[in-house]
Amino acid sequence: MRIVLRNVRWICTPGGLLENGHLSVIDKRIELMQAQPIAGPADETIDLDGCLLIPGLISLHHHFFQHLTRAWPGTHCAASEDWLVALYPVWARMAPPDFAAAARNAAAELLLSGTTTAVDHAFLLGHRGDERLAAEVEAVSELGLRLHLVRSGLPGLGARVEARLPPSVVNSLLDEPGAWLAQCHADLRRWHDPAPGSLLRLDLGPSNIAYDKPALMRALADLAAERGCGLHAHYHPRPAERDLCRTLNRVEPIDYLDKAGWLQPRTWLAHCTELDDGEIGRLAARGVGIAHCPRTVLRLGYRLPRLQAWRRSKVRTGIGADGAASNDGGAFLSDVRLALLLHRAGSSDASGWLSPQDALAMATAEAAAVLGRPELGAIAPGMCADLAAFDLRSLDVAGALADPLAGFLLAGSHTRAKLTMVDGRVRVRDGKLVGHDENAIAAETNVRSQALSRF
Ligand SMILES: [Zn+2]
Repeated sequence: MRIVLRNVRWICTPGGLLENGHLSVIDKRIELMQAQPIAGPADETIDLDGCLLIPGLISLHHHFFQHLTRAWPGTHCAASEDWLVALYPVWARMAPPDFAAAARNAAAELLLSGTTTAVDHAFLLGHRGDERLAAEVEAVSELGLRLHLVRSGLPGLGARVEARLPPSVVNSLLDEPGAWLAQCHADLRRWHDPAPGSLLRLDLGPSNIAYDKPALMRALADLAAERGCGLHAHYHPRPAERDLCRTLNRVEPIDYLDKAGWLQPRTWLAHCTELDDGEIGRLAARGVGIAHCPRTVLRLGYRLPRLQAWRRSKVRTGIGADGAASNDGGAFLSDVRLALLLHRAGSSDASGWLSPQDALAMATAEAAAVLGRPELGAIAPGMCADLAAFDLRSLDVAGALADPLAGFLLAGSHTRAKLTMVDGRVRVRDGKLVGHDENAIAAETNVRSQALSRF
């Protein structure tokens, strides 16, 4: 199968913008990229006049299941603890078909916003984890999104949250370490594909760092090393979390991670809003990555992450959509645009601000490096054909095209890709999903969401 993309107004290459370029794809890889028209036969030719072609976006952190509980009543002005107390009882009622519907909705929105690879941190699995993961894998593979599925679990909800929930809800959510690890082994055998270009990889890690379960943390790190997969968890040690770690382990959280074998290049951590200079230096020195989730920072009132300090220290940093219950949106491109600006708040030293090129790199090549995927995240011959094109002839970017990438990210407000290609297959064409009815996906999500709210 050979597909030619012709008359592309701008192509974002590792060396800068190529104007009026042409590109061909053979099977799953980019074949040619050049200023001259591409010769030879093609199975399909797509004209991208007026479009900006970028590498497919990569979201480093998400929770697909939360698409059924977006903008949930009782959470609109709730900070983190109240937000969790409101949502855990709802999440506890979800069944495998709910996970399929939520994953389908998440994948559809991601593809439509030019996202070609996403991490789903699947921590709500419990004793029906196998069925829930199977439902998600089937739904996402049908739509064609490249998936890093973090086979996660809930080692605890935190003492304060657990004290405010009925014991039946708490018990239905928590994972017992032995069963959890056994399921990780089984799921890795069933789904994990470590080959270059793989469409489905499994990674491991709890929802939050389990300070009272060092053996579990070590076992997850050992299993990840054995199977060549990644390690991922939320990590933003606030004062209570630091106190808990000191009480239980007599060390700081960063040292606890180190002792458990987590400070290594296969690890990336979500949020990291509370790190001091020493901790940032430790993450940088060990090659640990960070998934920065700008909309959750605003939605749940987290401290503003020290993005400029991370980058000065050369911490590998990408961007995550985060779960749909703390993002509410699902179009990852809007999170990339927000990341470009959020860290500037309160900072008058512009020397450390992200440029549009920096923000795009965080959401493409740098994210690919965090995931250990050198075949993703750039437009060049030999790379995986994960591409997204956006039509810049629209009103929102008119007058902003002296620098097209800057116009796209700073002025642009539309998030719908004209074309999204994953692994050499067209998944979005002319702004619509290929082979799937987005209205039907939305209707199914609404039916299932309403059923959860009526309980
Ligand atoms: Zn999260």
